[in-house]
Amino acid sequence: MRKPKVIVSHDVDHLFPKEHYFRDLIYPKLWVKSILKLLHHDIGLTSFAKRMASPFEERRHRIPEIIEFDREYGVPSTFFFGVSQGLGMSYFTDECVETVRYVQDNGFDVGVHGIAFDDAGTIAEEHERFLALTGLNDFGIRTHYVRMAEESLALFEKAGYRFDTSIFDRQRINFKKPFRVGAMWEFPLHIMDGYIVFDGKLESAKQVTLEAIREAEQICVPYITLLFHDYQFDDSLFPDQCAWYKWAIRYFNDNEYGFISYQDAIKELEEGI
Ligand SMILES: [Zn+2]
Repeated sequence: MRKPKVIVSHDVDHLFPKEHYFRDLIYPKLWVKSILKLLHHDIGLTSFAKRMASPFEERRHRIPEIIEFDREYGVPSTFFFGVSQGLGMSYFTDECVETVRYVQDNGFDVGVHGIAFDDAGTIAEEHERFLALTGLNDFGIRTHYVRMAEESLALFEKAGYRFDTSIFDRQRINFKKPFRVGAMWEFPLHIMDGYIVFDGKLESAKQVTLEAIREAEQICVPYITLLFHDYQFDDSLFPDQCAWYKWAIRYFNDNEYGFISYQDAIKELEEGI
């Protein structure tokens, strides 16, 4: 029996602090949450001070750092970038050009972090905008906050996406196999950082992850899909989240699960390997 391979992705919700100034409430919310977490002893003083000061840091993304880590472990991860704004993702397309190119130049895949999910016109616009930005024509999508409507998959397929990876069960880790939607592939998302690892709860996050991996093996899914937000890849700002990601990747690596990109997984599925 083949072990499932692991598909890793990173949703790029934030690039720089200034994109949030007067555009959204990301930082006021972070301040309030950080005070409550300090009071509950879920975060230490270092993380607290860093989070309070984070509106003034040079950048909020941690793409160079996570690329270095992923490369060390041979993880061909995919970075999803927004080409519209909404729900705390506030950078404009011209503000992400350089970063998208940086990821591509480093040999990693990029895709759309979609805002549109139920309207054919805006879905097609996002697809067009990303095509113009990257010159690619075979990229995938994950929606911001994994928002989906009944018709989303059909609309993504019609817009020309190669794959979607937004189907997600908020109640429990739910291993579903990839399936076709016309010319498009759907890779349901299984493990998302925000639903697994919480401040001050690293050990229970590891246990939940190990149990999930065992379940994935029992039901023989070919791929485990895992999402980690790059902005949390920082030992002092998000110690538990960052430690969980490093631990998970090393666990998969040490136990020889093997990592694969969405694009190569599609090749495997279509060639029936
Ligand atoms: Zn997002």
